[in-house]
Amino acid sequence: MTGGVRRSLPAVAPSSSERVVLVVDDDDDVSLLCRLHLEQAAFRVITAADGAVGLAMARDVRPSAVVLDFQLPEMDGLSIVAALRADPVTADIPVVMLTARVNAQDQQAAWDAGVSDYLLKPFEGSRLVDAVRVAVASDTESDRFERRAGALSLLRGSDVEMRQHLASIVEHAHDAIISTTLDGLITSWNAGATETFGYEAGEIIGRPISILASRGIADEPPDLLGRISRGEHVTQFESVRYSKDGRRIDVSLSASAVEDATGVVTGMSVIARDVTGRRQSEAKFRALVETAPDAMVIVDDGGLIQLVNAQTENLFGYGPDELVGGPVEQLVPERFRSRHPGHRIGYTGSPRVRPMGASLELYGLRKDGTEFPVEISLSPLQTDEGLTISASIRDVTERTRAEETQAHAFQREREASQRLREVDRLRSDFLSTVSHELRTPLTTIKGFADMLTSDWTSFTDDQKRDFMERISSAGSRLDNLIGDLLDFTRLERGQLKLDLESLDVAELVADAVRRVGPVLDEHVVDVDVDPGLMAVADALAFGHCIENLLINAAKFSHEGSSITVRARSDGDQIAVTVGDDGIGIPEDEIERIFERFYRVGPERNHRTGTGIGLAIVKDFTEAQGGSVTVTSLLGEGSQFTLSLPAG
Ligand code: ADP
Repeated sequence: MTGGVRRSLPAVAPSSSERVVLVVDDDDDVSLLCRLHLEQAAFRVITAADGAVGLAMARDVRPSAVVLDFQLPEMDGLSIVAALRADPVTADIPVVMLTARVNAQDQQAAWDAGVSDYLLKPFEGSRLVDAVRVAVASDTESDRFERRAGALSLLRGSDVEMRQHLASIVEHAHDAIISTTLDGLITSWNAGATETFGYEAGEIIGRPISILASRGIADEPPDLLGRISRGEHVTQFESVRYSKDGRRIDVSLSASAVEDATGVVTGMSVIARDVTGRRQSEAKFRALVETAPDAMVIVDDGGLIQLVNAQTENLFGYGPDELVGGPVEQLVPERFRSRHPGHRIGYTGSPRVRPMGASLELYGLRKDGTEFPVEISLSPLQTDEGLTISASIRDVTERTRAEETQAHAFQREREASQRLREVDRLRSDFLSTVSHELRTPLTTIKGFADMLTSDWTSFTDDQKRDFMERISSAGSRLDNLIGDLLDFTRLERGQLKLDLESLDVAELVADAVRRVGPVLDEHVVDVDVDPGLMAVADALAFGHCIENLLINAAKFSHEGSSITVRARSDGDQIAVTVGDDGIGIPEDEIERIFERFYRVGPERNHRTGTGIGLAIVKDFTEAQGGSVTVTSLLGEGSQFTLSLPAG
C-alpha cells in the first residue's frame, strides 16, 4: 500500500508497564490511524514502513502484538509472519493482519500462516482495537481457531452468495451461456441461449450441443471439446450456428473447461455471442470500402492493418489478404518509416478528418520496392474494437507528372518571355550602341580631318602623319563595323549566300590579319598555320570570322600582349584558334556571348562594341558546316576555335 508523501513516525521506546503494538505499514496515513486508535486504547505504538525494519524492531522490542499490512515493498506480509514464527524470540507475538486483499486465497493463506486476526481495509478503529486486545490478551489456540473458522465460514458464505450472484449474472446475460458434459451433452442453458437459438432450456438440456451446428461443421463442437479438455482456452472463435427455426447465426464463441472441486475437467462452458448484426454491418462496411474509388486502408490504433480494399492491393502490388494483419509501415518507404509510428500515435491522440502530411510530399512503397507519390486523407473511425484510422490513398503519379510538365512548360514560357524581353532590351541598346559605334570613328575622322584642313600649316609633318594614321584606323573600324552590320542584316534576312570551295587556310588567315591591320598594331601577333592546310569554306565569310575574332582579341586584351592564330588539322576538320592573354570571360556568361547583342558587362569592361560580332561568327561558321567553341579563364585570356571541314 502506498499513500502520499511518506513521513516516518518516531519510534517511541516503551516503558515496561505499557503494552506495545508494532504497526508495519508503508502507508503513513494507515500507520497514523492505527496509532491514534491504539493509543486511545492505552497501547503504546511503534511503527515501521517496511518488512525488514519491522522484523528488526519486533526482535528488539518484542511488542505485545504486530499489526501488519499484507502488501509491503520488497517483503510481503505473509513472509513477515513466516519470519516472525521462525524466530524463537518473536515466534509467539500475535499478528493482526490489516489488509485490502479481499480474495479468499490470501485470507486462507494468512490464517494458515498463523495470524491472530484478519481485518479488511477500510477498517473501523474499534474493530482494530478489539482485534489487538484479543490478540494481546491470553489468546489461546482454540480461540484463534474459532475466529479462523468463523472468518472462513463467512468467506464460504460469501462464496455461496457469490455463486448465486454469478448464477444470476449468467442467467440474465445477453450472451448465450451453455455448459456441456465432456460428451457434449448440454447441462445448462441460460435465457440468453434461448433468446439466441430459440430453444427453451427444458427442451434442449440433455441433448448434444452439435444440434446447433450444421452438417458442414458438425465436427466443430467435438473439436472444441477436445481442445478445451487439452487445457486450451478458446476465445472469440468466429463460427456459424443455427437456431431452432433454421436461421443462420454468426457467432463469436469463447469456451473454457468446467472443473470439479478436485480440478478434474468435467465439461465445457461456452459463451456464444450473436454477431450476425455486426457481421452484416461489417459486410456493408466492407462493400463500401471496396467500392471506394481510392485505395482504402483501415488501421487499428496499434498500426496494424485491419482491412484493405482491392484497390489498395493493386496499387501496392500485393495479393489478396497479404496486407491484413501486417503493420501499415510496410506501405511506407524505408526513409520515412522510423518517423511514421510517431505521426500515427500523434494522430490517434487527436483524431480528426484531415489530409495527411499537409504540405509534405508523401510516397507509397510497393511490394516490389518501387515508390510512387500519394495523397492521403485520414479519418478516425470509432468501432467496437476501439479507435481505428481510415486512410484513403490516391496515387498522384499522373497528376504530379502533369503538374511537373505544366511547371516545366510554365518555366520554359517564363524563360522564353524573359529572353524575349531581354532581346528586346538588347536590340534597343543595340541601336544606340550602333549609332555610338558609328559616331566614334566618325568623330576621329571628322575631327582630325577638320583640324588639318583649317590649320594645315601649323602642324609638323610627324603630327600630320599621326593624324592621318588615326583617321585611317578609324576608317578601318568604321569599315569593320559597317561590314558587320551588313553581314548581320543579311543573316537576319536569310540572304546569306555562301560559295564553298577548298581554300588555303594560311592564305585566308594572312589576308584577314592584313585587313584588320592597324587594330592589331599595339599587339604582338603570332601566326602559326601548318602549311598546305585546306578547308572547305566561303572565302568572304571565313575571312570575316577570323577578322572578328582578331578584333575582339585586340579589344579585350592589354596593349603589348600577344595574339596568336593557330591552324591545325584535327581529323576531318581544320581547327583555327585565335587566342589572347586578355581579360577573359566569366564562366557563367561564356554560354551567352554568341547570342545576338549580348555583351559581357559592357559597363564593366568599358570597351566599345555592338554585341553582334560573335553572333555573326557563329552563324557564318555553322553555315559553312563548322562550329565555334571557346575556352576562357577570367583575367588570363580566351581562345576561340573555328572548326571547318578539311578540304
Ligand atoms: P562586341 O561588339 O561587344 O565585341 P561580340 O559579339 O564580338 O560583341 O562579343 C560579345 C562579347 O563577348 C563582348 O562584348 C565581350 O564581352 C566578349 N568577348 C568576345 N571576345 C572576347 C575576348 N577575346 N576576350 C574577352 N571577352 C570577349
